[in-house]
Amino acid sequence: MKNDIIFNLIKVHQRIEDACKTAGRNPKEVQLLLATKTVPAENIRIAIEAGETLMGENKMQELRDKDNELKHLPVERHFIGHLQTNKVKDVLKYVTCIQSLDRLSLADELHKQLQNQNRKLDVFIQVNTSYEESKFGLAPEEVLSFIKKIKTYDTLQIKGLMTIGLLDVEKEKMIPSLRLLKTIRDEIYNEKIEGLSDLKLSMGMSQDLELAIAEGSNIVRIGTSIFGNRFLGKEIWNENIAE
Ligand SMILES: *Cc1c(COP(=O)(O)O)cnc(C)c1O
Repeated sequence: MKNDIIFNLIKVHQRIEDACKTAGRNPKEVQLLLATKTVPAENIRIAIEAGETLMGENKMQELRDKDNELKHLPVERHFIGHLQTNKVKDVLKYVTCIQSLDRLSLADELHKQLQNQNRKLDVFIQVNTSYEESKFGLAPEEVLSFIKKIKTYDTLQIKGLMTIGLLDVEKEKMIPSLRLLKTIRDEIYNEKIEGLSDLKLSMGMSQDLELAIAEGSNIVRIGTSIFGNRFLGKEIWNENIAE
């Protein structure tokens, strides 16, 4: 297992580098996030010991279960799954960033808890750029007004936008939902809102890493290509099921 993970990491870094080269981008602009849902802590540890510094979990339960083994390791933990409001307080014990901020009620609860703790938190706004019912995230046309509302919450530091693009066997079908995230960022930039001049794009997974980098991704979130398949058979990408 250890050798597999290390070998896969080398391959993924090579893919990132190649995609950057093709896109004429500096590989330093693209960070790798280990998407670790269902991955045992001991396997995550192998990747961290190989030099990875960023991971993302989808569930509160998994954050808690793996905490003992991971908390002393030099890794930054993000939350990338659908976050129920009643789990905010617990999740905040483990993460430094929530990439899946997708509604006002969640922003309200985060603000409240963070105020209590006298701390700030990095957030990404999740956008449903593929308009699929199986995915969470704000509708693209809601993003700007959402940002204007939560800008007043001084506990939330908006770091960027996140999307799970449309996954398909055909490349051409996957590109628009990635490109849209960048378009939304351009719209935000056009508004010249204070403090929002450097927003990162978190997009690209095992299947669409190269396309996402071509479209400007700054964080690719990779699970399967590093840790192997999560379950046998056909994997249907459905955030509702994942929850
Ligand atoms: C699982 C997951 C990923 C990684 O997907 P892979 O296809 O396994 O690379 C990325 N982002 C989110 C939000 C995920 O839940």
